[in-house]
Amino acid sequence: MKTDINATSATTSWPGLIEAYKNWLPVTDNTPVITLQEGGTPLIPINSIGNRIGKKVKVYAKYDGLNPTGSFKDRGMTMAISKAKEEGCEAVICASTGNTSASAAAYARRAGMRAYVLIPDGYVAQGKLAQALVYGAEVLAIKGNFDRALNIVQEIASKYPVTLVNSVNPYRLQGQKTASFEIIETLGEAPDWLCIPMGNAGNISAYWMGFKEYYKSKKSKKLPQMMGFQASGSAPLVIGKVIDNPQTIATAIRIGNPVNREKALIAKKESNGAFLDVTDKEIIEAYKLLGKEEGIFCEPASAASVAGLLKRKNEIQNGATIVCVLTGNGLKDPDCAINNNDASFSSGLEPEIQTIAQRMGL
Ligand SMILES: *Cc1c(COP(=O)(O)O)cnc(C)c1O
Repeated sequence: MKTDINATSATTSWPGLIEAYKNWLPVTDNTPVITLQEGGTPLIPINSIGNRIGKKVKVYAKYDGLNPTGSFKDRGMTMAISKAKEEGCEAVICASTGNTSASAAAYARRAGMRAYVLIPDGYVAQGKLAQALVYGAEVLAIKGNFDRALNIVQEIASKYPVTLVNSVNPYRLQGQKTASFEIIETLGEAPDWLCIPMGNAGNISAYWMGFKEYYKSKKSKKLPQMMGFQASGSAPLVIGKVIDNPQTIATAIRIGNPVNREKALIAKKESNGAFLDVTDKEIIEAYKLLGKEEGIFCEPASAASVAGLLKRKNEIQNGATIVCVLTGNGLKDPDCAINNNDASFSSGLEPEIQTIAQRMGL
């Protein structure tokens, strides 16, 4: 085994997930791979969360906010855009609560395609909107919510020569399933619980597909229980019916009519998992904990996975291994951060040693 890591291998070792997992993905030698070297994200121990649960559990964060555009959507998008390119498509379209539009724009433009993104006007976090604009998307903000935007883009993609890249596009889930492969490779086994936020519920379905594929190939000896979490004001999968006007601070999961409902329900049933809602207050609590105790800044939607874990802590077995998926980067939503923290922030101070020392309590 090679042990000396030189600068070259350290910077070129991860080729992106299509190259890393091409035997597990629907690609051929003729597929033009459009990549920003997504995937290969860290699995970080989050001991302060584990300590809150006790029972000698081990808790890890799969920090997918470290993907090139700052969310797990890049895993799906490298596949969706590469396949669209292979099929000769010239434009893509998506509806988005923000992260899909950022990712679609980056990968489509990299492939030389146009990207049309429909977003709910006023409900997309600043960082995500900034990305779509910088990556050169055609941004169309509608006076309606995500669910309405998705209806429109599905209709348009069925009538015009544009490829739909929302998670109804099967290549998206193929790319996203690779996160499960990475988790099993890092832990040497599947975890007992996989905690994950759900919006359109594509990601939980993709993870389950990945865990099952590795299990069938004997790369793991067990399957995790899939624990899906939604925000209380936006929890159609928990209450079992469509929500017309979903509300939550976690805008990435502000979805009332999840397109991958059936797949997610199968994942829950097959894995003996559970779906539960967490309040915005619980989400923000977990969001702050991750920031100030672990040095991990995720977006509010992502913190739903940790909030949900803490809420269900009584059901966890001793010594369990748990992975919480942190789907997006905290920098995406600076307004949420500024408005929700316990930091001490003194502004307008005189630039004097005395003043500063006094404020420091010295
Ligand atoms: C898209 C997204 C989700 C929800 O994923 P689904 O596949 O729609 O369930 C959760 N968190 C973040 C940050 C997202 O961007």
